[in-house]
Amino acid sequence: MSNEHVFDKYLRQDKLPHMWCPGCGNGIVINAMIRAIEKTGINQDDVVVVSGIGCSSRANGYVDFCGLHTNHGRALPYATGVKMQNPNLKVIVVTGDGDCTSIGGNHFIHACRRNIDITTIVFNNNNYGMTGGQFSPTTPTNSKTKTTVYGNIDTPFDICNLAQTAGASYVARSTVYHATMLVNQIAEAINHKGFSVVEAVCDCPTLFGRLNKIGAAPEMLLNFKDRAVTVAQSKKMTQEELQGKIVIGKFLEDAERPEYSDRYQDVINIAKGGK
Ligand code: SF4
Repeated sequence: MSNEHVFDKYLRQDKLPHMWCPGCGNGIVINAMIRAIEKTGINQDDVVVVSGIGCSSRANGYVDFCGLHTNHGRALPYATGVKMQNPNLKVIVVTGDGDCTSIGGNHFIHACRRNIDITTIVFNNNNYGMTGGQFSPTTPTNSKTKTTVYGNIDTPFDICNLAQTAGASYVARSTVYHATMLVNQIAEAINHKGFSVVEAVCDCPTLFGRLNKIGAAPEMLLNFKDRAVTVAQSKKMTQEELQGKIVIGKFLEDAERPEYSDRYQDVINIAKGGK
């Protein structure tokens, strides 16, 4: 399908123009998500997009699917409710690094643990964009934000490590520079049965890029290109060599783990006297 047709089909034209800053990476991630949905062939009416609060969560309003724009950090509980009520729906959560791993951090690890069939796309721009550029759980050590003006002293979460450790059964990472890889990963995640996480490293030129003197959007994308190493390359590198790198690719795909809504259906069947 041509670009024009994809956008006509999946974007709510009456909600445009969007509120994002020029050069913000959020648009590339949404572009990747709608291309991935088109690629999977899933019926548009069977997709539910759920978001929390933040710049990336505003994406929900621009795409033409059933949707829920919920409270800060609470997209996953709402998404879990939707999935449990109707397991035939394809539920996609769009969330930011702060929304997902700070305010919603507990919901995230428990959704991973349950392996419920939800695809979560984490827009990771390393700061809270919407509220003015405060540091988030993924802000790199020594980076500057509005609340770490002398450099961040925290150690950041690695979202993909966290998801794997907590029990997610599909985990991948790409960046907005590697947009084709991002489309393929989101499509795979949607087709995967179980809790799937795609971390999309994206640029926030207005706040994170400016405060850390990385430059505007083109420089930020080139910075992602320069720092990216594949999962295979990373396995041959030392921890020292991996400092500052962004490891991209698929970390995990486990089709064998039982999925939560299926297991819950088993419980319902047993309660009704079946086996
Ligand atoms: Fe994008 Fe950052 Fe602007 Fe938010 S503040 S719209 S994340 S560039």
